[in-house]
Amino acid sequence: MAKTVLITGGSRGIGRATAVLFASKGWNVAFSYFGNQKSANETCAKCERAGYTGNVLARKCDVRDELSVIDLFTAARERFGSIEGVVNNAGIVAPQSPIAEMDVERMKTVFDTNILGAYLVAREAARTLHSGTAIVNVSSMAAKLGAPGEYIDYAGSKGAIDALTIGLAKELGPMGIRVNAIRPGIIETDIYASGGHPDRAAELGPTCPLGRSGDPEEVAHSIFWLISPDASYVTGSIMDISGGR
Ligand code: NAP
Repeated sequence: MAKTVLITGGSRGIGRATAVLFASKGWNVAFSYFGNQKSANETCAKCERAGYTGNVLARKCDVRDELSVIDLFTAARERFGSIEGVVNNAGIVAPQSPIAEMDVERMKTVFDTNILGAYLVAREAARTLHSGTAIVNVSSMAAKLGAPGEYIDYAGSKGAIDALTIGLAKELGPMGIRVNAIRPGIIETDIYASGGHPDRAAELGPTCPLGRSGDPEEVAHSIFWLISPDASYVTGSIMDISGGR
């Protein structure tokens, strides 16, 4: 029987690439989108082409909303039965700004989406997963670099994801559930346009030691490995996927 992965924020970027990769490996994919139904439909089509017909479920979900997150897990279980992997991926940045110019609503939106949202998803995962399953939290290199003058609210929110990963790995390890995180660097997705700087990946890519930005597919492979049995003795790890940045 096919295994099932649940991915938040699967309509675009890293989440979509991860959904398609899991589908291509024969997994069922349950993913959430926030408002972009057209992109969600495209992810569904790509998953079906990569895998088999009927292997994908898209569900609208706001990770800031407890009931919405519970509904996402319920829908995935009802459709596919058990869940073997959770990718805690949905996240946002706000426009680049020094902290002195950040208004409180912006900070609340970033913290609610990236911290509260990720913790709610982690809680439902802890309630749902069973021995032999795994969670991957999507952090960011910003947690190490701090994003000064740009997004230090975002960087702080990703620091919380690192702490969540360390604690949750210890809490769920005795139940046979592994928890790891990845820290992507500069990856070509829409996230920079959402943050008001669409050319950021093109500008910063060449400054990375590997001389380029990364593709979402390169991140997806790391997530897949961490969820797969090939990483059976890996938990509490935070892996930089950043071309050396
Ligand atoms: P993206 O292309 O902008 O996609 C963001 C995804 O999150 C979309 O599927 C979006 O849904 C969803 N989303 C946004 N707000 C949400 C909410 N309140 N509730 C539920 N879903 C929501 O972003 P990405 O670059 O793939 O980023 C994915 C993760 O990687 C994020 O956690 C980000 O912080 C992290 N990351 C990215 C980079 C990078 O360089 N790209 C670097 C480091 C870390 P809709 O499509 O419906 O809007």
